[in-house]
Amino acid sequence: MEYKISLIPGDGIGPEIVGEAKKILDKVCEKYGHKFNYEEVLLGGASIDACGVPLTQEAIDTAKNSDAVLMGSIGGDAKTSPWYRLEPSKRPEAGLLGIRKALNLFANLRPAYLYNELKGACPLKEEVIGEGFDMIIVRELTGGLYFGERRTVEENGVRKAIDTLTYDEKEIRRIAVKAFEIAGKRKKKVTSVDKANVLDSSRLWRKVVEEVAADYPDITLEHMLVDNCAMQLVHNPGQFDVILTENMFGDILSDEASMVTGSIGMLSSASLNETKFGLYEPSHGSAPDIAGKGVANPIATILSAAMMLRFSLDLDKEADAVEAAVQQVLKEGYRTGDIMSEGMKQVGTKEMGDLIAERI
Ligand code: NAD
Repeated sequence: MEYKISLIPGDGIGPEIVGEAKKILDKVCEKYGHKFNYEEVLLGGASIDACGVPLTQEAIDTAKNSDAVLMGSIGGDAKTSPWYRLEPSKRPEAGLLGIRKALNLFANLRPAYLYNELKGACPLKEEVIGEGFDMIIVRELTGGLYFGERRTVEENGVRKAIDTLTYDEKEIRRIAVKAFEIAGKRKKKVTSVDKANVLDSSRLWRKVVEEVAADYPDITLEHMLVDNCAMQLVHNPGQFDVILTENMFGDILSDEASMVTGSIGMLSSASLNETKFGLYEPSHGSAPDIAGKGVANPIATILSAAMMLRFSLDLDKEADAVEAAVQQVLKEGYRTGDIMSEGMKQVGTKEMGDLIAERI
């Protein structure tokens, strides 16, 4: 098969880690007989330096014309980088928010998977970890409290701030459909998280999710209140497969879930629109403190590329092969500095990429 992929190296460690992810994709092409046509896109600080703005129309058009986008990360050191002397709408982060909006990416996917080999980095007790955990949080990204009407007023000398939480059934249905589709490729369980004992938006959420569930009879649906879910994530994380939730709950729960895996350099993510199209990127930032040193962990970006194979290109077998190669390299004791522990073999960014590519 032939696909068009936009590559956004971005800033800081971005070009190093995207280079390794491309190495893996090239190996997948060689092994499975595909052809990926890459086009490089400037975003963030790199775009400011070249074009004067963090996002250009040309970048949006190139991304829209591709089957999927793979990104490193954008941004620099806020204290020293000249990008942060610009007004907020011209800084690197504005480019990322802009491209997400332009591509209508409403579904954010964040897996939290505990590798047996990295159990030591998990802050939970051995008896809580049990057989480990493998979940994915599907978060609604463009609605809810963060996008509702807001204002601050003064009434009778008292300052008052108002934020509104709105969801319509269409917004709920399209994210629920994504969650059920993803569960179909996994362990076939969706836990929908809300606050239906208090919020009207959550009661509508629950109703619409149940309507969607009727179309997926082979998938188990359970509802869980958000406060309980926050506790269950550290009490019994092994119970979850797909967690489906709204924007703010998802913001908080996805960070909690990633913390229990223990390692920022291992966490992938995806943002999808209504079609198969998506933007794939590691959960971490551009790590300016280690940029250019050849020590960054490329695994989060490589696992993001595996998600791209699975969710945008429907290449499940190839995605499995990449994930298995990562697992194998960890099993053999290779580690970048951020996940290093006693008795393991420390390697740099390029070497880690080579080791994974060799095992595909
Ligand atoms: P960060 O995630 O870049 O770094 C936090 C710490 O983790 C640093 O010590 C860093 O060295 C380490 N780290 C991160 N990724 C690593 C990797 N792959 N391998 C080894 N170590 C790694 O967060 P920050 O320092 O708060 O932000 C730096 C810049 O990144 C800022 O400009 C911020 O705005 C930007 N940022 C971008 C994104 C994105 O592009 N989606 C996300 C978060 C932050």
